[in-house]
Amino acid sequence: MMYKTREVKVGPYTLGTGHPVRVQSMCNTDTRNPQATAAQICALENAGCEINRVAVPDMQAALALGEIKKRIHSPLVADIHFDYKLALEAVKQGVDKVRINPGNIGAIANTKEVVKACLDHGVAIRIGVNAGSVKYLKSVAGQVDLSDDKWAEVMVQEALEQANILEQLNFKNVVVSLKSDDFARTLKANELFASQSDIPLHIGLTEAGSFLSGTVKSAIALGTLLQKGIGATIRVSLTEDPALQVRTAYEILKALHLRQYGPNLISCPTCGRTQVDVAGTVKELEKRIYSDKELLRLSTGLKIAVMGCAVNGPGEARDAAFGIAGGRGEGLYFEKGQTLFKLPQEKWVDFLIEKIREFGKQSHTEGK
Ligand code: SF4
Repeated sequence: MMYKTREVKVGPYTLGTGHPVRVQSMCNTDTRNPQATAAQICALENAGCEINRVAVPDMQAALALGEIKKRIHSPLVADIHFDYKLALEAVKQGVDKVRINPGNIGAIANTKEVVKACLDHGVAIRIGVNAGSVKYLKSVAGQVDLSDDKWAEVMVQEALEQANILEQLNFKNVVVSLKSDDFARTLKANELFASQSDIPLHIGLTEAGSFLSGTVKSAIALGTLLQKGIGATIRVSLTEDPALQVRTAYEILKALHLRQYGPNLISCPTCGRTQVDVAGTVKELEKRIYSDKELLRLSTGLKIAVMGCAVNGPGEARDAAFGIAGGRGEGLYFEKGQTLFKLPQEKWVDFLIEKIREFGKQSHTEGK
């Protein structure tokens, strides 16, 4: 089934079918401290984050949003629960999107005020349905054994009810998210919603967990949805540095050929033939690339190989632009599977960086 969504504007970005899947994250600083929060957002922007969300638990946090906005360069999202006055203040302070559920902010008059403010200022709204917060699911959790389909159905019903409130007020600049900590429920809920609505989806697992398990779960869930054309923007929620969440999101999009960000670095798992430090080389190379914006730009789209031995290395990595295959304390440098010369291990990383600059400049010139 082909899913097609409407277009939604968030700051300079258009979300929806036919537009790049945007990467977002959320700060873990105290929003009432605009300096610290803006500094974290700038670090996230450097890591490639395109949309940033902050929690707005009280009026002091809402009042800090303008100061944060002044110091950053990307769209800002205010995350608000229950208090519509915080949403009104956030809009006044210049945010680009508000995450708020219209069904949870009291009288319809409150929603009308928020919608009017968002319309007047070109601000988008995200309706966020997290399985753990849906009333019915909360009430039966641990007592009734619901199927994943039922979980999905209840979540979608909740999202559609919330979305209908905005529809009736003729507000269209809406994104919806349906998240749970479970892969199957998240998948089913998003698929079901996409089959019933043209509202673009912000996709992610919530409380995905630690770096390794959360990455695996997120990659499977988000990868499956994105492959089906579902998901206009993604967030990978890991109990980790938000910058690493951003990197993980890009790795998922890169693996699916949906976005390019940095190199496609391939390396072998090593085996009994290995006599060089493949893991150390790869780590160092990644560290250098991802901490340098220019290198990141030049390496984008380049396939680079670091292989443990010459027996299988250059052949298996034949379609890499260039790479190294290890020997005893040294390596063979190759381009497109053609071995060119030997290089001592201590020179590998610097040499590969030079090659990134050379190949990167070439491909960027050719691409012009
Ligand atoms: S490339 Fe060589 S060292 Fe690496 S896993 Fe394959 S055979 Fe082993």
